[in-house]
Amino acid sequence: MRLVDSHAHLNHPDYHPELDAVLARAAEAGVTAILVPGYDLESSRQAVALAARDHAGAPALYAAVGIHPHDAEMCDDAALAVLRELLAHPRVVAVGETGLDYYRDRSPREKQQAALRAHLSLARETDKPIILHNRDADADLLRLLRAEGLPAAGGVLHCFSGDAALAEEALALRLMVSAAGQVTFKNAAPLRQALVTVPHDRLLIETDSPYLAPVPHRGRRNEPAWVAEVARGLAAVHGTTPEALAAATTENAGRLFGIRTG
Ligand SMILES: [Zn+2]
Ligand SMILES: [Zn+2]
Repeated sequence: MRLVDSHAHLNHPDYHPELDAVLARAAEAGVTAILVPGYDLESSRQAVALAARDHAGAPALYAAVGIHPHDAEMCDDAALAVLRELLAHPRVVAVGETGLDYYRDRSPREKQQAALRAHLSLARETDKPIILHNRDADADLLRLLRAEGLPAAGGVLHCFSGDAALAEEALALRLMVSAAGQVTFKNAAPLRQALVTVPHDRLLIETDSPYLAPVPHRGRRNEPAWVAEVARGLAAVHGTTPEALAAATTENAGRLFGIRTG
């Protein structure tokens, strides 16, 4: 299998001591490329630094830069100027992650919405796709995306955890839908019913490392090698082989982010 992990926070401090081992296990599992999204300024800088370095024999690393809705309050003009500067680096292939998180509500909702609008305009300006985080905010997210419009380069609803109605709306907006480890969870029947409605050419897979480790690793710190379990879980949902699912999602990631996937 040739796999792309389209969302892994290898910029998270958890990985510093053993990044080389994590990358070696990913290569062993067939992962050819990993996209590392930022969640604040420091992690965005680190994502770029990781992607800029050559890791011999390891999967190719690419970066996205953005400020997570949890930290929307730090998304001011100065922060946006830093993101704009980082976006000029050739290994930065997307804006994100950004979006709305009404589950944890760590930032006021109007700040989250303002930050999302600013990220969308940054993506339009730099002609990059956008990586969207959504938790319990379907109605506001869709309303805002419809009003603002998506960048021409498109985008992805990452770590999709919604229902079939949300999947349908995302597809209508020309978004890709990215499945993470929950697709392997026993209690995720509604999620599987949503994911089965997404055509093969609109699917991505990710680990969202270090979170959401798939079965049989559930509860442990996640890592990109385990995107293979996500591929197997999603293949079962779609009644196809893991190899076919891996080939389709790898091609989709290459197309959306303009990256080499092997
Ligand atoms: Zn997220
Ligand atoms: Zn994330």
